Amino acid sequence: MRETYSFDDVLLVPQYSDIKSRSEVDITCELDDNITLELPIISSPMDTVTGTKMAAAMADLGGLGIIHRYNTIEEQCLLAKAAGKAGGVIGAAIGTNEDFESRATALWDSGVRVLCLDVAHGHHVMVKNTLEALKSIFGEDMHLMAGNVATLKAFDDLASWGADSIRVGVGGGSICSTRLVTGHGIPTLQSIMDVSYTEHNAKIIADGGFKKTGDIVKALAAGADFVMLGSMLAGTDETPGEIFYTKNRPEWLHEGYKIYRGMASEDAQYEWRGRSSTPEGVSTTIPCKGPLSGVMKNIAGGIRSGLSYTGARNIIDLQNHAEFVTQTQAGQGESSTHIMRRHK
Ligand code: IMP
Repeated sequence: MRETYSFDDVLLVPQYSDIKSRSEVDITCELDDNITLELPIISSPMDTVTGTKMAAAMADLGGLGIIHRYNTIEEQCLLAKAAGKAGGVIGAAIGTNEDFESRATALWDSGVRVLCLDVAHGHHVMVKNTLEALKSIFGEDMHLMAGNVATLKAFDDLASWGADSIRVGVGGGSICSTRLVTGHGIPTLQSIMDVSYTEHNAKIIADGGFKKTGDIVKALAAGADFVMLGSMLAGTDETPGEIFYTKNRPEWLHEGYKIYRGMASEDAQYEWRGRSSTPEGVSTTIPCKGPLSGVMKNIAGGIRSGLSYTGARNIIDLQNHAEFVTQTQAGQGESSTHIMRRHK
């Protein structure tokens, strides 16, 4: 049995750098020949992460938002048309259900140019059939994102079925209970390392489990072209959902909370389907974080700084020069902020 690695198991070795300012570091990345993003960040197609405001703000800030699919075709198209007003690239998710063709064409008519075939276990015959059908409808006009997968074999299969980019990561999401419920999954970083050996051109989107920007830098260094974020963006002003406050809160605690939930949680399943099968996700609350622009600024700053520690001026440079080491549990303790533990 082989050993697999998660973000916290590894560190990147600091290397000689002649980069004098973070502004010298370019983190733009091509999704395909027609779409280039200024930041390698994509927001998750979840109903507590990406609706109209998030998709529009992501396009504005240089990333990409994928509008969730838990709505009627009309509602999703309306979300896309509003979000697309400023002219940025807008993505939207679809499933493999019977309505996928009509949903996909309606989304195209609403200006969507990135379609995300959003399936928990993407290495599946239904994904094969749907991707092949979508490719025959749209050819190269629509960018087809698909997933999720955890292995090189699955990545290569989805690429050969027509996926232009592939979400990599099974069971790693912060609100995910797939590994607990099914016993299946691979640490996201390991999956990225494995699929980075692909000979296909499909882009690698690391998805699930990012806690801090250091994890993002590790994923990019391991071979990811983009990262998809849920919890790191949840709670920003642009996410859908109401703000609420805890009862009897002290006066100084004026921040509110928003719900962040897995799309396979009991909560989400009841709301969108009126019934729930075995949940593979949980629902939680998350403190409000203010405007997305502030959060994205910190994320972009962290990534740029991360590249400069390897002496890399762009993501390809990072991937060519990155050197990973493993760390022990004691090392993990030292790697986190640990002053508080000393005073216990
Ligand atoms: P996070 O960034 O760690 O919060 O993970 C977000 C990712 O979790 C999403 O992009 C999906 O791939 C995945 N995800 C969303 N909902 C669920 C769920 O209910 N169960 C398992 N995985 C989920």
